[in-house]
Amino acid sequence: MKKSVIAIDGYSSTGKSSISKIIAEKLGLVHLDTGALYRGVTWFALMNCLDEEGKIDLNKLFSSFSRIDLEFRNNQGELILFLNQDDISKSIRTNEVSENVSFIAKQKEVRDFLLRYQRSLADNGGIIMDGRDIGTVVLPGADYKFFMTASIEERTKRRYQELISLGIEADEKQVMENLMIRDKIDSEREIAPLKQADDAIVIDNTNLTKRETIDEILSYISKI
Ligand code: C5P
Repeated sequence: MKKSVIAIDGYSSTGKSSISKIIAEKLGLVHLDTGALYRGVTWFALMNCLDEEGKIDLNKLFSSFSRIDLEFRNNQGELILFLNQDDISKSIRTNEVSENVSFIAKQKEVRDFLLRYQRSLADNGGIIMDGRDIGTVVLPGADYKFFMTASIEERTKRRYQELISLGIEADEKQVMENLMIRDKIDSEREIAPLKQADDAIVIDNTNLTKRETIDEILSYISKI
């Protein structure tokens, strides 16, 4: 029997990825953090596609897709993102990437480039994918769809703590600003904007622990 496909979308720093990872382990599914792919393309652009003023040259990026090989490798249960054989799992969390990723992610060429890869991974079922447009665009036929939200204050606290734990310098005010700007660009873009699918279950985890959020999501998922 084909295993289920689960889509988890929502605002930045609602815990989508870390929660999806645990649910994947529990249910024996593959987990794909699609935000990491957009961050990977952004990292590539910052390293290889800057113009003379130090800004990302989009045409240079679009003509370089054939040189971008993104791959998740499993390291003792932890999925590590590699770009052209280099481990970029830490680089994609830097402020430089966070500040540019939504600009890169709103480009049609970038979304088309990553869409095929994401869909191909779901072909055989048994996957939980988290992002912004999974339930609406990437996998509209997913068996279960969730849309996660939480207050901006709580999300700022979580992202700040994540950065500190990764050894990345952070300032709470800047973290909050970055989350708000990304949410705005992600929600207002023309192609595949961040929005709740009509058939998604909304999970507001402002006052829930990670454990409680996972339990709530699992309570909706019947036999897989
Ligand atoms: O999930 P994360 O915060 O790492 O995602 C980084 C950015 O990637 C988002 O702010 C958004 O601009 C973009 N993204 C997207 N579509 C997805 C996943 C992420 O546009 N499915």
